[in-house]
Amino acid sequence: MSFGEHISGMSNDYNEVSIIGGSLSGVVAAFLLGKAGKRVSLIDPQQFPRKKACGEGLSSLGVSYLKSMGLWEGEISNHAYPFYGYTLQFSSRKSPIELTRSPLEQPQGYGISRIVLDTTVHDRVRELPNVTLMNDAVHQVSFEGSRAYIETQKCGKLSSDHLIIACGARSVSKLFPGLSVRDHAGPRFGMAFWCEGAWRESPPDTVQIFNRTEGQYIITPLGESSVNMSLLLEKNKTCSLKKEEVIRRAREILQEAGFITTVESETLAASEIHSARLQHGNSRAYFIGDAIERFDPISGMGMAHALYSASRAVSAISHGEPPSHYINEREVGASVIRKLTSMSYALNVKQDWMLYQLIRRAPQMAFQVMDMLKGKFPKPQHHDFIELEKVRSCTKAYFSSPTYEERV
Ligand SMILES: Cc1cc2nc3c(=O)[nH]c(=O)nc-3n(C[C@H](O)[C@H](O)[C@H](O)COP(=O)(O)OP(=O)(O)OC[C@H]3O[C@@H](n4cnc5c(N)ncnc54)[C@H](O)[C@@H]3O)c2cc1C
Repeated sequence: MSFGEHISGMSNDYNEVSIIGGSLSGVVAAFLLGKAGKRVSLIDPQQFPRKKACGEGLSSLGVSYLKSMGLWEGEISNHAYPFYGYTLQFSSRKSPIELTRSPLEQPQGYGISRIVLDTTVHDRVRELPNVTLMNDAVHQVSFEGSRAYIETQKCGKLSSDHLIIACGARSVSKLFPGLSVRDHAGPRFGMAFWCEGAWRESPPDTVQIFNRTEGQYIITPLGESSVNMSLLLEKNKTCSLKKEEVIRRAREILQEAGFITTVESETLAASEIHSARLQHGNSRAYFIGDAIERFDPISGMGMAHALYSASRAVSAISHGEPPSHYINEREVGASVIRKLTSMSYALNVKQDWMLYQLIRRAPQMAFQVMDMLKGKFPKPQHHDFIELEKVRSCTKAYFSSPTYEERV
């Protein structure tokens, strides 16, 4: 069943919560709210499953959120491939920096295909009768009294008590032209492609980052015989290079890393990937994921933030807390992610010599700093607002209501 076919004819014009954007942050919010018995519309013009330009490295912070939401066990963990650190290669220096933990410890993160991750959560949402998936695009948002109103291309006007904005970075300025965005680092360009094949030697247990003049080439193992190759390139240094040339370099790097490709996917381009955040939110809507802040992908923290911010926003809605409260709460975790990103950015992108020396000589100290920062990241809350009895009674009441009969 594709996105939009769920409960056909049920695209009613009132919901408790409307969510604009059905990628990771939006679909996770829909899942949590749906389980809490809320009537939700999840709106996205894209067809899922889809291949998304992403490095597909899910950090341990992200995993802890998936676990607390009850999404990790089963399909997702069966397809996730653990990694225990990073191997950093610099063309100016011969030996790589190994920033790794022992495989006897907890993995640093997992390689996981976005198709598996996003599709699994979509499938779980389809099981919830009180969530409507709409294959549609929102082109206008307004507020009147206590209600939020959205105009979609196909279904017209919808209203809801709460609005979650999960539309990613590009659309947010179109939907909310008044909101100013603060840019942090210069524009970069992201691309990803996928390969099946075999490792010449045993598969690596790290994510390998190859630093070149024009940017980073990152190999994330997704299984024994498949990898994600993502490219994070400096815009000003690549404009003289053709896309084909960059991809040729990426293929060479894969060979150098010891991966023999048998099947290669089409390449996918992403637009600008510079980090940016909203100066302030909108007092009426809950902005989550890349819509409120995106981090340079070198940190591999985008998915963790999508899960964390979705969970925070859902918790705020369930406890009757306004968006301003949510924005302050989200800031705690976001500031940790920002610090982790700036360390990774300083080391790989700026090639900070001091940091390089420190990590080379004392990798354990680098891990201690990372662990200390991660210790400040808000622990996922047990979603105790999901009361099964309440869910059952809400769902029953919804389907026995005359308005539902009229709709079908
Ligand atoms: C090259 C690259 C590599 C990356 N690597 C990693 C990595 O290794 N690890 C990691 O954790 N993160 C990584 N990220 C970041 C990660 O992909 C994002 O942080 C994450 O996908 C954000 O999810 P989201 O749901 O907030 O937004 P998005 O995934 O951007 O989704 C937004 C959704 O909103 C929908 N939408 C847009 N406009 C509208 C509208 N008007 N109406 C309705 N729907 C709309 C879109 O169709 C889309 O589905 C990477 C990103 C890039 C670009």
